[in-house]
Amino acid sequence: MSEVLKTENLKAFYILEYWGEKRVIKAVSNVNLSIKQNEIYGIAGESGCGKSTLLKALLANLDPPLQLIDGKLFYKTNCDFIDVFSLSKKEIKNLRWSFISYIPQGSMHVLNPVKKVKDSFLEILESHIKAKDIKEYFDLMREHLKDLGLSPEILEAYPHQLSGGMRQRVVIALATLLHPQVILADEPTTALDVVAQRAVIQLLKDIQETFKNTIIIVTHDMGIHAQLTTRMSIMYAGKIIEESPTQEIFKNPIHPYTKYLIQSLPKIGEKEQREGISGSPPSLISPPLGCAFHPRCPEAKPECAEEEPKLIEVSPQHKVACFPN
Ligand code: ADP
Ligand code: MG
Repeated sequence: MSEVLKTENLKAFYILEYWGEKRVIKAVSNVNLSIKQNEIYGIAGESGCGKSTLLKALLANLDPPLQLIDGKLFYKTNCDFIDVFSLSKKEIKNLRWSFISYIPQGSMHVLNPVKKVKDSFLEILESHIKAKDIKEYFDLMREHLKDLGLSPEILEAYPHQLSGGMRQRVVIALATLLHPQVILADEPTTALDVVAQRAVIQLLKDIQETFKNTIIIVTHDMGIHAQLTTRMSIMYAGKIIEESPTQEIFKNPIHPYTKYLIQSLPKIGEKEQREGISGSPPSLISPPLGCAFHPRCPEAKPECAEEEPKLIEVSPQHKVACFPN
């Protein structure tokens, strides 16, 4: 399968100034991704590890205080790789919705509360497609909702008239309206009940199967990754520490942090509370030297505090940043 999006040593930091004092939050460091056409790729990790920031960088949405420090981002549109950071703001804007689209975290707030759903859909269509009349726009909307198995009646609703789960599906329908090749979804199932979560997962699966596009999904919930993604990576302190096909990650996790994330998944019928890992996520202002996970790692060796392990391929398609035992 060919690549559709790739990054080279992507580095994006928040740079804040308080009364003349500079604070640098190293939210995304040295990320190398190679995302293929027609795959659902997952990004996991605890809250605050940089997942949402990485998606913002993949969208080339780098507004202060977030700054691109280093690295490159490429989109493959038609047959060519485009160096995205060399484009003008206007050129990047043109690629949004049509080539790449984004379902932000807390996307309940994406829809304008005082507008009907159809008005949000119309706004996007009008800004990207020249139709001969308004009817053509409405035909496109209805056809798209039909493709997604959603009722066209929702077009007449105001956001507050829809349940949380339905609102989330409407936001997904909106993000896929122009059939983008890449969809970035940030925690699309968080804050939903189990039934609504299942509907959202099914919708994302259906979209991928129908349009053969690429979905990059961020969620801290390893259970969602197990159900939905084909390949995934685990982030810790702004870096990718393990990447592999999802099945392989669950069968053969190598990084102690990945093992912890998998072990902490609740199992059916289990009554006892699972043991958490000690300590808290590291500061992204001054992360620990060596491997950022070493202060919490049950398998840490002296070298882990001194040297940072590189992300290397240990078996085909399986990369890990951890010193071998
Ligand atoms: P995640 O999505 O994995 O929870 P984020 O990418 O949201 O992580 O955050 C990574 C780090 O960047 C955190 O330390 C967070 O506090 C910081 N951060 C996120 N957004 C901002 C912002 N707008 N300004 C300053 N720091 C931010
Ligand atoms: Mg987030």
